[in-house]
Amino acid sequence: MKLIEKDGKDIFKRFGIPVPQGRLAHDPDQAAAAAAELGGRAVVKAQVLRGKRGKAGAVRLVGSPEEARQAAAAILGMDLGGERVTVLLVEERLDIAKELYAGITIDPGRGSAVLIFSARGGMDIEEVAATAPEAVVSLPFDGVEPVRRHDLYALVKRAGLTGPELVAVTGVLLGLVQGFTAMDATTAEINPLVIVAGGRAVAADAKLVIDDSALFRHKDLTPTETEPQGPLEKAAWKAGVAYVPLAGGEVGVIAGGAGLALATMDTISTLGSRPADFLDVGGGVSVDRMAASMRIVAGTPGVRGILVNVFGGINNCELMARGVLKALDEDHIEVPVVVKMRGHSQDEGWALLEAAGIDVIKKGTTEEAVRLIIQEISERNEDHGGLR
Ligand code: GDP
Ligand code: MN
Repeated sequence: MKLIEKDGKDIFKRFGIPVPQGRLAHDPDQAAAAAAELGGRAVVKAQVLRGKRGKAGAVRLVGSPEEARQAAAAILGMDLGGERVTVLLVEERLDIAKELYAGITIDPGRGSAVLIFSARGGMDIEEVAATAPEAVVSLPFDGVEPVRRHDLYALVKRAGLTGPELVAVTGVLLGLVQGFTAMDATTAEINPLVIVAGGRAVAADAKLVIDDSALFRHKDLTPTETEPQGPLEKAAWKAGVAYVPLAGGEVGVIAGGAGLALATMDTISTLGSRPADFLDVGGGVSVDRMAASMRIVAGTPGVRGILVNVFGGINNCELMARGVLKALDEDHIEVPVVVKMRGHSQDEGWALLEAAGIDVIKKGTTEEAVRLIIQEISERNEDHGGLR
């Protein structure tokens, strides 16, 4: 799970990393009020999960509450990499002496986390690594051997920092390592980590991604809701499923796992039709999550049939079948539905679906399931005299 900058900064702060003072704003008035509280000089920043905001004009320096209001009006509603801006962060404006980079990510080749620090930041770290490799230093760590302050001190020194900056940055890196570990993060990044007057180091930006498989250990985490695009996306977000509607498709896809979803979509295209969406139900599917998935896909524009292609491993086929039936029952979904499911509690799942008259592919392939739903869609059309 990716967190917005403000949520990331709140967590960084808990681990002793200095962050600018600031608050969220949802409209221009709130932004003006927040800037006034900070004395007028502020930074207004879009809170989105993707996109390079600086380059897109979604990070603006302002000198008064009125300017904050105007900046907020300009940024709200912007489209950043397909994500609409609905929340802003208004924070204390820093007088930046220097921009540095600090980040931790997982190095799959090495099978460990790796801390990367660069005496140059603000831009892409890949760019720095290519143009000024001497400024970039790194330290792998594995969560078994503790990372000690003097290891970090030596690392930062190697990148060329001295004096108060060296001490301040060492403290930030220690907090970053501790936060990354405690939060089960897969990415923790501060770009830029800025040096302000007196050699103090402050996190001007924050990117924190928590391992989805570890979310059960962080039930207290309450990420800020950044409004998804529409009601279907919102329902998907609430249900905890990954969903992307696709314009011009006709077969609604519900699959277990992103890989199976993509394979199903490919098969639909290969066999001459088009998928109307990507929906991955994820693991630990409940009756309600399955029903919500059915509702979302049935509501997707253009859908003329739904193909459920799931596997019962972590998931339970009986529960998934109950979810499908619940949605059919409560939502009067009238398009044809084909279900291919196999695995844990398959017999119970099959029996429930068959009793309800749903077409079930028991031991067949995805290709068979796709052929069947395409055929049912075309038969349904003929019944309606070719009219939709
Ligand atoms: P990103 O482009 O999405 O990574 O957004 P950032 O939060 O990194 O902001 C982009 C750039 O805005 C930074 O690299 C800084 O140069 C600048 N910036 C952000 N906050 C401040 C601030 O408080 N003061 C000043 N002067 N510049 C800032
Ligand atoms: Mn940044």
